[in-house]
Amino acid sequence: MSEIKNVVRRLCILGATGSIGLSTLDVVRRHPERFDVVSLSAHSSVDTLLAQCIEFLPETVVMVSKPHAKELKQLLLDKDLGHINVLSGAEALEVISQDKSIDTVMAAIVGASGLMPTLAAVNAGKRVLLANKEALVTSGAIFIEAVKASGAQLIPIDSEHNAIFQCLPIEAQNTPGYCNLSENGISKILLTGSGGPFRTFSVEDLESVTVEQACAHPNWDMGQKISVDSATMMNKGLEFIEAKWLFNVEPEDIQVVLHPQSTIHSMVQYKDGSVIAQMGNPDMRTPIAHALSFPERIDSGVEPLDFFNTPSFEFQAVDYVKYPNLKLAIEACKNGQGACTALNAANEIAVDAFLNKKIKFTDIYKINETSVNKFVSEDVTSIDDVMNLDNRVREFTRNLLTQYDTQDISDNMNRDNH
Ligand code: NAD
Ligand code: MG
Repeated sequence: MSEIKNVVRRLCILGATGSIGLSTLDVVRRHPERFDVVSLSAHSSVDTLLAQCIEFLPETVVMVSKPHAKELKQLLLDKDLGHINVLSGAEALEVISQDKSIDTVMAAIVGASGLMPTLAAVNAGKRVLLANKEALVTSGAIFIEAVKASGAQLIPIDSEHNAIFQCLPIEAQNTPGYCNLSENGISKILLTGSGGPFRTFSVEDLESVTVEQACAHPNWDMGQKISVDSATMMNKGLEFIEAKWLFNVEPEDIQVVLHPQSTIHSMVQYKDGSVIAQMGNPDMRTPIAHALSFPERIDSGVEPLDFFNTPSFEFQAVDYVKYPNLKLAIEACKNGQGACTALNAANEIAVDAFLNKKIKFTDIYKINETSVNKFVSEDVTSIDDVMNLDNRVREFTRNLLTQYDTQDISDNMNRDNH
């Protein structure tokens, strides 16, 4: 243990300016003796990345958008921080994630854009803290094979998967993706979900919900895309697929349980009848701190759970009529990689259209279903196949959107709500 305590982790944080990135830096800030922030990335948030440069003094940053990178470079010069190397373009993300001078990568870019830099970190044998669930959904077995081949250490950040990881025996923790849970006495993975902001809404009410309502999660504060995914429960669907790959189980071995309080973050059921759960206040700094310091434990800044002022725990079965996207994702998981890659790409386009008020909340499912049905039997066995299918599905889905009423529907939605 004393050896582990002396390790200073050299970090690359992909998606540093997002919700997970900010929470990661909040944990890091509390332990300057344990972590060196070597590199950071953002898409185009100049002000946030500049503030992070001033505080954490990284060696290199990537600003994917070229004009924003130029702007950041000038601002760094003005602050006498011209020695910070500023790279731009999506390819630069792979440069920092596989760099020899770092040992740990926080993969916190949103969407399939996170796949290539996360895979580069895996191939370079890094310790990969995986928040970017879309990478695993999009590439499944290919991603896990890469983990196995390189000996990279994969630690889940998604609160449910991190909870499951914490409830597993050490042997299974050391081999995520290729552990044999049955041989370790496990009978089921119980994946919990709150049901999001519309759990108590009727199916009819969902027709007129707004972007603002969809993004107001009752328990978690997250980025916009995952907030909408939580409202449709596509997030739980993506997590279902993520769990299949991370824990090497079949869809029949995973059960989704609605737990509105988000206090139990997921559970593992053993053959002898024991159920081990991981609990805590809903704050991503807990799984982030766990993964950053594993196998040690460090302070995360999260308040301890107060059992005497915690609402009672409720559990419910999922209503798939209300959450058809979850059913679609579970079916995709059973149907194979083509369906999962297509599901993810279609959903990214559909959610973006909803966030831009081009389609209704309930259209997200219709678009996802049509796109998945079109590409369900595609063969996906290499990263080139993944990228090729991802592109074709995006194009198909964008064309599909033109059949919807693409004028700004926010006025209609607002009228419906008054
Ligand atoms: P966010 O939208 O708050 O942040 C996304 C980050 O990715 C930002 O730094 C942004 O600059 C960067 N980014 C966006 N598009 C990019 C692109 N095309 N290329 C490169 N960088 C890009 O998202 P978030 O909520 O922090 O989620 C990040 C990931 O973590 C997602 O995959 C999400 O599913 C997962 N996750 C998030 C939470 C949470 O509580 N927020 C919980 C579990 C899992
Ligand atoms: Mg989650």
